Amino acid sequence: MINLPNHIIESAATRIRESSRIVALTGAGISTPSDIPDFRSAESGLWDSANPMIVASLWGFRLNPKAFYDWIYPLAELVMNAEPNAAHLALSHLESLNKLDCIITQNIDMLHQKAGSQTVFELHGHLRTATCMKCKELFEAESYIRQFLQDKAVPRCDCGKKGVLKPDVILFGESLPQDIYRQAEQAAIDCDLMIVVGSSLNVAPANELPTLARESGAGIMSINLEPTFIDKMADIAIIGDAAEILPEVVKKL
Ligand code: NAD
Repeated sequence: MINLPNHIIESAATRIRESSRIVALTGAGISTPSDIPDFRSAESGLWDSANPMIVASLWGFRLNPKAFYDWIYPLAELVMNAEPNAAHLALSHLESLNKLDCIITQNIDMLHQKAGSQTVFELHGHLRTATCMKCKELFEAESYIRQFLQDKAVPRCDCGKKGVLKPDVILFGESLPQDIYRQAEQAAIDCDLMIVVGSSLNVAPANELPTLARESGAGIMSINLEPTFIDKMADIAIIGDAAEILPEVVKKL
């Protein structure tokens, strides 16, 4: 039972019913109920163990891949064992109802696909594949990551130069995948409702997409544990847990 007046859930459902081109923009907060902490959570430790601007930057990775792998170990372990939660499943259901055109996500955890979502633009990459820093060959990452979780050794390619394998996540200083970002921008321009879920909207350029959608005539619905800048331009801004709220809203459709 969620602690939210029924009329708020009803008006969110009505807004979805009245919309035909819906896009969701998701952030780390949608995956906290799957036990993957967002980066702002004090208890995650991910920001504390090392300076991510250094270890998780492209030049930091080139200089010291071991420091990057040590830093990402706890997140990789959680991601590899995580299951989608009710919020991921609700968005997947919305797509199967032909209500949701696509999900634009800042997450690297692949939980939207695990929940069954088909059209997902991963702005910051994912842990599904890894690329050799020397020969540039692309590999399915799962077996390498599972091996790394056991032996903590930096995964390397079998190529002559034994290049380090870099998971295909976007590091600081690395540009976003241009084709994916372009498709995300187009989706923001074309949609008539953008649902923003679990993002502090502190990271550019993903945080520009709701404003782009708004300027292009879309409504904005925000579901987040805390207020964000988008609430001021939102038609509906709900403060609460996405894994409780989204399924209730979708149930009313
Ligand atoms: P963020 O950590 O900056 O913000 C998360 C927001 O979600 C916060 O405002 C928080 O209050 C809210 N939140 C937390 N739990 C929630 C819940 N159950 N329901 C609703 N809201 C909830 O995350 P961000 O905006 O995505 O930006 C952080 C960056 O970190 C992104 O680039 C992302 O790639 C990366 N990241 C990804 C993962 C992941 O893949 N799961 C995890 C950590 C960080």
